[in-house]
Amino acid sequence: MKRTYCKNINLLEKKKVKIFGWISTIRILKNLVFIKIRDFTGEVQVICIKEKKTVFELAKSLKNESCVKIFGIVQKKPKDQILDHENKEKFEIIAKKIEIINISDNIPIEIQKESSEEKRLKFRYLDLRSKKMQKNIKIRSKVIEIIRNFFYKKKFLEIETPILSHSTEEGARNYIIPSRVQKNKFYSLPQSPQVFKQILMISGFEKYYQIAKCFRDEDLRSNRQPEFTQIDLEVAFANARSIQNIIENLIRIVWKKIFNIFLPKFQRISYKNCILRFGNDQPDLRNKIQFIKIKNSNVQYKIKTKKKKYSLCFKLSSSDMQKDIYKIQEKYFSKIFQKYYPYISWTQIILKNRKLEFFGPLKKILSTYSIEKISKIANCENKDFLFFYNFEDIQDIAIFNNIKERFGKYSKSFIKNYSSWNPIWVTDFPMFVRDESGKIISGRHPFTSPKNKKIKIKDSSKNLLNIVSDSYDLVINGFEIGSGSVRIFEYKMQKSIFKILNIDKKRNFGNLSFFLNALKFGAPPHAGFAIGLDRLIMILTDSKNIRDVIAFPKTTSAIDLMTNSPNNIDKNLLKELNLYKFY
Ligand code: ASP
Repeated sequence: MKRTYCKNINLLEKKKVKIFGWISTIRILKNLVFIKIRDFTGEVQVICIKEKKTVFELAKSLKNESCVKIFGIVQKKPKDQILDHENKEKFEIIAKKIEIINISDNIPIEIQKESSEEKRLKFRYLDLRSKKMQKNIKIRSKVIEIIRNFFYKKKFLEIETPILSHSTEEGARNYIIPSRVQKNKFYSLPQSPQVFKQILMISGFEKYYQIAKCFRDEDLRSNRQPEFTQIDLEVAFANARSIQNIIENLIRIVWKKIFNIFLPKFQRISYKNCILRFGNDQPDLRNKIQFIKIKNSNVQYKIKTKKKKYSLCFKLSSSDMQKDIYKIQEKYFSKIFQKYYPYISWTQIILKNRKLEFFGPLKKILSTYSIEKISKIANCENKDFLFFYNFEDIQDIAIFNNIKERFGKYSKSFIKNYSSWNPIWVTDFPMFVRDESGKIISGRHPFTSPKNKKIKIKDSSKNLLNIVSDSYDLVINGFEIGSGSVRIFEYKMQKSIFKILNIDKKRNFGNLSFFLNALKFGAPPHAGFAIGLDRLIMILTDSKNIRDVIAFPKTTSAIDLMTNSPNNIDKNLLKELNLYKFY
């Protein structure tokens, strides 16, 4: 007799079936035992009746999560037994025979309910049996299938690149692996296949993709993992737009197949405008509260202070805000306003006898002319709140953005739009930025081309920080889905960028001299992209935690609690690796 899967029993009314699975719940009544049995397609109810004595007695002795084989007959559930939340399960099985394949010990976690994350990770084999994890991992697999089909149809080649590798200078710390054969030498685990995929372009493969494992030894946040997966691609003779079109196409297909949704037009905005309008480079367009630029001529201080370079405002429309929003946030704001006085401030606009009146601290800071002008620019209406910020450096926008974001989430429009999807391309990121110590580093990675291909970049250039790169990120609802760029394909340009970044002769070109050299042999222009698969699945499954979309993730302290790795290794192996002296 062939096996029947749980999800198919509704097609088999009155038929004999054999199912395999795990026991989710057992409910023992006087004359009946109800068992919920689960396989990877779904769950069904099995009924064991007292008249079938052996089955009934065995059913009573079963334990949750045991693996069983059940023979029985499918019947329609009596109408009064179909519970609302189970309305899909209209059929059940009357058990004729039960075979225990493997009994389970007492379960250390609550599988279908929330257990502590530590326990869930330790007993991952049980946690993965939960509905939530089964759903997430299945969606992940489905998305990978869609992606593979997409690239296959577009004639991309799937090419694997090495894991035991070298540093790609992509900004994070590398994981290193000591070589046993080459004493005192180390491999690095790749932060991404960046250099290899560019080499593949030089080798003439033109359209490459890979579902690639990447490794970064960083301090972990809730949506980071030391090893993660990228959908990595590279195309020769392509420009930014052609890569963006490929990605848009792919993302549309994923949304259509997973949600049956047609995504709206992908908007686009430059990094600088994005920061000045949304306050960050990962905008969530569901939040309709946006910054508005104010010309400096419209800013007149009433008090003695130095006017700064940029001025922004945003309004909270009283009709869009849930009530008493200001009261909720009052404590937080009074601190901010004190700390940033007089550069961050606010006013409320009240219409009295057809005249606008202003309440709040801003009227002591700016001239009435200014406030009137700014409230006009922001289209303020009666009872609206207006927030103002005057600042010197774009990097300083974060604080004003925090205020905006706090309110955004409480606006009626955000709540109304919550389930909509709003993709946006953010382009033209800075080529160079300063790190915390003030050192010039790559804004993206060292292989990103400047937007102006004719530009001659020297480390003596004063305006390194103003150079714009030909780069682009895809952001959906405030999450960065992926990033990419047009690459440098000329030896001279790459060498000068390496030099600025201190990846030069002294440092053996960061072990990248092979790459520099490869650019001397007719390298084609090329561009690429990488989608963070884990983050994409988080969005598609509405998961808050990256660990919920990875079968075997690590904790935020980079431990795999199930296998207990990293762990100590044998002293003899350490000796062989020439590492013993370090322990
Ligand atoms: N290698 C880049 C990254 O991992 C993506 C790309 O530029 O293709 O972010």
